[in-house]
Amino acid sequence: MSTIKIHDKEFVKSIPSEEIAARVKEVAERINRDYAGKRPLLLGVLNGCFMFVSDLMKNLEIECEISFVKFSSYQGSETTGTVNQVMGLNESITGRDVIVVEDIVDTGLTMHKMLETLAQSNPASLAIASLFLKPARLRVPVEVKYSAFEIPDRFIVGYGLDYDGLGRNLPDVYDVKE
Ligand code: 5GP
Repeated sequence: MSTIKIHDKEFVKSIPSEEIAARVKEVAERINRDYAGKRPLLLGVLNGCFMFVSDLMKNLEIECEISFVKFSSYQGSETTGTVNQVMGLNESITGRDVIVVEDIVDTGLTMHKMLETLAQSNPASLAIASLFLKPARLRVPVEVKYSAFEIPDRFIVGYGLDYDGLGRNLPDVYDVKE
């Protein structure tokens, strides 16, 4: 069992990079089918999405574009429950097929607020692709059309996800050790 220490916490490897790659490919294949003949705009939510959106896009065979937005709602391993838009969208999404790409949907508050804001610009369609989903933690109704992994209520790091700024570079995913 592979364990690492980040700041004050120990983490145990839970999802190896090969399994992540296989699941990301599956999500991409579904998007390839669902958006055939369209040109979706992937809207990555920084910072956590960067590895996922990169690997996802490499597996897309349809025409697609990418842009990024940034929200901040998280401090350490406890959500603050407040969601603030930090960096906005520069291009028009009116009439576009938008796929919001997120690292993890936890309470769903970030995605709820994001969809509410984006819907005001009248996109042709709006869907969420999230690498991880914690169904037991959802506090608001959010439809995550594409999720690579449904996971239990545990804090994870790696593959773009951090613990207080560290751990994003890990190719595998780790669960916090209770
Ligand atoms: P939500 O608004 O759905 O509660 O929170 C979503 C954001 O919280 C994610 O984009 C991510 O930044 C952070 N988050 C939620 N759960 C985890 C987790 O287990 N690990 C890490 N590193 N971040 C998380």
